[in-house]
Amino acid sequence: MSAGDGRGTAAVRESPVAAVRAAMAARTARQQPSWPDQAALDRVESELADLPALTTEDEVVDLARGMALVAEGAGLLLQGGDCAERFHEAVLDVIRHKVDHLQGLAAMMRAGSGLAAVAVGRLAGQYGKPRSSPFEPDPDEAGRMMASYCGDAVNDPAPDPVSRVPDPRRLRTAYDCSQIVLREVRRSWYGKPLQERVYVAHEMLLVPYERPLVRAGVRGAFSAATHFGWIGERTRELDGAHLALATGVHNPVGVKVGPTASPDDVVALTRALNPDGIPGRLSLIVRHGAKDVERLLPPLVSAVARHGAPVVWLCDPMHGNGIKLHGVKTRLMDAMLAEVAAFARVLTAHGQRPAGLHLELTPDPVTECVSSRVTEPSFPDYRSTCDPRLNPEQSATLIAHFLDR
Ligand code: PEP
Ligand code: MN
Repeated sequence: MSAGDGRGTAAVRESPVAAVRAAMAARTARQQPSWPDQAALDRVESELADLPALTTEDEVVDLARGMALVAEGAGLLLQGGDCAERFHEAVLDVIRHKVDHLQGLAAMMRAGSGLAAVAVGRLAGQYGKPRSSPFEPDPDEAGRMMASYCGDAVNDPAPDPVSRVPDPRRLRTAYDCSQIVLREVRRSWYGKPLQERVYVAHEMLLVPYERPLVRAGVRGAFSAATHFGWIGERTRELDGAHLALATGVHNPVGVKVGPTASPDDVVALTRALNPDGIPGRLSLIVRHGAKDVERLLPPLVSAVARHGAPVVWLCDPMHGNGIKLHGVKTRLMDAMLAEVAAFARVLTAHGQRPAGLHLELTPDPVTECVSSRVTEPSFPDYRSTCDPRLNPEQSATLIAHFLDR
């Protein structure tokens, strides 16, 4: 039935973009903040729908070609960046520092493997965070609770109830900051071959931000909010709004896979997200934790190989290895190194390729993750407002370990 035949239902008349937006609106979205003012939120969403696309379809297609190389065994993927980007870091020096660092780590992967290395930053949109609890105790008043920090696109991390009230205007600021970051990312492309570019990625989480940035391309709807988008561990249910977004856009996409994912879940995800079997379209980002990966990953890999669609297998050694030491959120290097090695062993044993890493990292010399050998860990330079990141030396250690496993 062609568009405009004048008799169809809304779904028939809709453009691909309207269809994706409608599918998102019709489904339940988990992990959305309790926005205090629905009218203001709706206004921001319409405003975002009228603003220019942040990314272009050509850029998305270029990354899709790089992802196809990764899927075919000619390349490795490095995804990395902050757990939560900050608005005040959308300034030239900071962005340049992050991009240079990612390029350096990708060059290390290239040199160490003899393969192409595709670098994708957690950048230009990593402003929304899912949380295990929507509230946390207010440090200033015993017994009082305040909203958890949900990323700069939602609220301010300062630990007081007023700062933590979600503000829809922040979604517009997230767009503006992402645009600044992307401008600098593109500037870093000049004079570089296509394979040495850094692309951008974020968790596609906040529906009123993602939905208006679904745009029309020549090849169908795509997310003009990013090059690569992933769906988090907490929002990957098959009938949810986030899956409707990821299935409806043609960008390369990823899904986090943690301990609660069954083989059937994962097979269903691969079929929903890669029905045409396009190499590189879908990455599964495994984050089981060092203790469980050797036990939980084999049945997933077998099931996908037998019944699923083609996927790129990535290891996120961060999110299954979080611990608290002296009240501080951290991760032990030894656990992360063990998860990377076990991940690679399992994939290789099943005749599949460990295709790369998804890391939380920073170019700054922070102490947020620590070696397990430290008996009295201290955190002299802890800056993350969310999860602990690797410093440059720690990132290089993990990548080297991945390469010579
Ligand atoms: C993250 O990548 O910061 C994150 C929240 O991951 P996950 O969805 O795997 O918990
Ligand atoms: Mn994180």
